[in-house]
Amino acid sequence: MNATGRPLLRAGLIGAATGMRSQWGPAAVAWSGGRVPASSSAQPGFWDRPWVRGATLAAATAEFVADKSSRIPSRLTFAGLTPRLALAAACAVVLARRHHVSARTAVTAAIGASSACASAVAGTRWRRANRNHVGAAAAEDVFAAVLAWSACTPRLTRPAPSQPSQRRTRRLPAEREAKGRPMEYEVRAEYAEVAPAQSDHPRVETWHMTKADETEALCGQSLDPAAKTLPGTAWGTSEVDPFCRVCGAQYLRQGV
Ligand SMILES: [Zn+2]
Repeated sequence: MNATGRPLLRAGLIGAATGMRSQWGPAAVAWSGGRVPASSSAQPGFWDRPWVRGATLAAATAEFVADKSSRIPSRLTFAGLTPRLALAAACAVVLARRHHVSARTAVTAAIGASSACASAVAGTRWRRANRNHVGAAAAEDVFAAVLAWSACTPRLTRPAPSQPSQRRTRRLPAEREAKGRPMEYEVRAEYAEVAPAQSDHPRVETWHMTKADETEALCGQSLDPAAKTLPGTAWGTSEVDPFCRVCGAQYLRQGV
């Protein structure tokens, strides 16, 4: 959901909750606010004050109990509906200011109130349609609580978690070459003294790794400029066996 839709969704949710339980919206708003540390000199906002929280909780609890009575007056009367809509609008505005800096007050209030009106009507119909008065009321309780919680949760504002960053993988220099980079390393032969490079059948004593076009191996060994070379990608294959262990270790380290 984009940044414009979230404050409206939040207003709709808290409005719907307040339409069902007029005191639950204010209680949710009060109890989901930030707490001001005792050491701080900052004054808590109205909804964060302990007595406001206490009062909203007491009112919400009283409504929870009273609502189970079959003699409770309809919420659709003028006296029942008007304060409900006003509370819904107020809660929607408070939440919008808390979570969405740019939200428009009038639009938010209107959505909160109209959502409360709709849910008050729907709740009344639901209650009339069910013979089990307490059961229907309890189901409505659960629904209202979920709506109120959803409206107040900061998760609604947080952007979706980004994709986990790709793990850095250890890549060998030869693999980097395969990715189209210029060749950085090559394998160069060290010959047995009895059969130097110039002889017809030179015998390779050890293969070493060098940087491209260099004759000094990674292990420090100086190699014959005329010695046979192979691309660095030959490392690890049987073609360059035996391979200098020190060069192999150095080559791995360069690959980090
Ligand atoms: Zn070496």
